[in-house]
Amino acid sequence: MTVYDYVIVGAGSAGCVLANRLSASGRHSVLLLEAGPVDNYPWIHVPIGYGKTMFHPDYNWGFYTDPDPGMNNRRIYWPRGRGLGGSSSINGLIYVRGQPEDYDRWAAAGNSGWGWRDVLPYFIRSEKNSRGVSAWHGAAGPLACSDIPERHPLMDAIIRGAMEIGIPENHDFNAGNQEGVGYYQLFTEHGMRCSSAVAYVNPARNRGNLRVVIGAHATRIVFDGMRAVGVEYRQQGFTHAVRAAREVILSAGAIQSPQLLQLSGVGRAAMLQEKGVPVVHDLSGVGENLQDHLQLRVMFKVGNVTTTNDELRSVWGRMRMGLKWALFRTGPLAIGINQGGLFTKVLPESVTPDIQFHFATLSADMAGAEPHPWPGCTFSVCQLRPESRGRVAIRSRDPLEAPSIQPNYLSTALDQRCAIESLRFSRRLAAAPSLRGILIDEYRPGPQANSDDDFLAFAREHGATIFHPSGTCKMGTDDTAVVDPRLRVRGLAALRVVDCSVMPTLVSGNTHAPVTMIAEKAADLILEDVKS
Ligand SMILES: Cc1cc2nc3c(=O)[nH]c(=O)nc-3n(C[C@H](O)[C@H](O)[C@H](O)COP(=O)(O)OP(=O)(O)OC[C@H]3O[C@@H](n4cnc5c(N)ncnc54)[C@H](O)[C@@H]3O)c2cc1C
Repeated sequence: MTVYDYVIVGAGSAGCVLANRLSASGRHSVLLLEAGPVDNYPWIHVPIGYGKTMFHPDYNWGFYTDPDPGMNNRRIYWPRGRGLGGSSSINGLIYVRGQPEDYDRWAAAGNSGWGWRDVLPYFIRSEKNSRGVSAWHGAAGPLACSDIPERHPLMDAIIRGAMEIGIPENHDFNAGNQEGVGYYQLFTEHGMRCSSAVAYVNPARNRGNLRVVIGAHATRIVFDGMRAVGVEYRQQGFTHAVRAAREVILSAGAIQSPQLLQLSGVGRAAMLQEKGVPVVHDLSGVGENLQDHLQLRVMFKVGNVTTTNDELRSVWGRMRMGLKWALFRTGPLAIGINQGGLFTKVLPESVTPDIQFHFATLSADMAGAEPHPWPGCTFSVCQLRPESRGRVAIRSRDPLEAPSIQPNYLSTALDQRCAIESLRFSRRLAAAPSLRGILIDEYRPGPQANSDDDFLAFAREHGATIFHPSGTCKMGTDDTAVVDPRLRVRGLAALRVVDCSVMPTLVSGNTHAPVTMIAEKAADLILEDVKS
């Protein structure tokens, strides 16, 4: 059987970082296993291709949640990236780190080494920011990020409107203070997506000590007693096994890392027995503590400004967009979907921003679906630190069966209040002087929605994920923690989890940069442990 020092499962945001950093010295052999295909689909790399990968069966796992009581028993579509780069190959490219307080909260909960001062150097190390080096940013890292190449008149009007209602302009959401309105930075370089595969795996592909195997679906962690010693995977109908001399590292994401632990006998014993899985280690937190950002998409019909809807619907518009991108790497193709953001507080008890907006100069009934046949725009708003908690659990012993996902959105009074207040804020913003004559009609929720009950009903009927599931292999020191602050699975040897699932609480923003930071730091922890 082939032996590697490290076997990493999942080539997504985290797995790609680890593959690069652990193989960099040349001293350790590393195997990166990825269930999906290589990333040679052109629409992965053109930012607006987001719409093309949203439902693509090869590059997207296309999960659905269970019927969710808080969402009028609707099953919510949960896309997850499949293939080299994982979700970083299909995400919305928005670069947000979260708030310093998020990480200080992790540290205060017992996760020493994860406070803001500890993690900031890892954000900086990962970053190749087109703005150059500063106290907040790096320019020598692998992960390219840059400013949106062109301002949009509608986005500029939204920024002016927000300032008219008292929101400060913010030119950098990643410099300590998130509050304000402005354009986002994107994970792009010269108008192309910079996924984790592009940033971290491609430059390391020729290293003799790194092997990347695609189409390899890990089905089980192999244990010798309480020590992880390898992984079994399926590839083209055949089962293979590899050994890990030092460690097995799960980076399969917030849905599939807990799924793989449970399939391998690590989880709540009673649940595993019920599914017929022999118990290796009774660890009740596996799959619990699921958190996500729920997006409420307020949409408007637009007048007096050309929106991306108009450009996408006309042949000339598409040709113009294509030419702009081909010649100058600018225009809508270089941007993806969302251009600008806004962070503010709507609950009186909040000390830091509690909601985030994503503004798109485009509208569609569902994220990634066909644009409306009229000029439109979207204010997508989400609560940043939801209290609602859900779970992920295997349905059977079959490793290829999708697990049960129960988000339990809007299951606490605070989350419901925040949803209502965020929709009220959105109305206030839309009524700002600079947006009069531009936002001519509120399509959703629509003018008939006015009371708290109306807004909550809208959230339950139309709310959807903004794609940030996390927390299902929580880092911590209490009995519900799955990994310790060095990301080692508690009670087992030679097994770590490094991905979005280890977040004890969801960060106040998008999750790709935080996962990249987690993996950068994890690589140091792993290499430190080799020396000790
Ligand atoms: C549609 C969408 C839009 C998003 N937009 C943004 C955004 O604009 N900005 C932002 O910061 N974040 C965004 N996110 C979130 C962000 O991309 C994710 O939080 C982040 O990529 C998660 O990283 P990860 O390493 O935890 O998991 P992933 O990147 O999902 O990687 C997991 C990898 O493991 C593989 N895998 C799973 N199971 C197995 C198995 N059994 N065997 C082998 N391989 C396996 C998967 O195929 C995948 O490649 C978005 C996500 C999505 C889906």
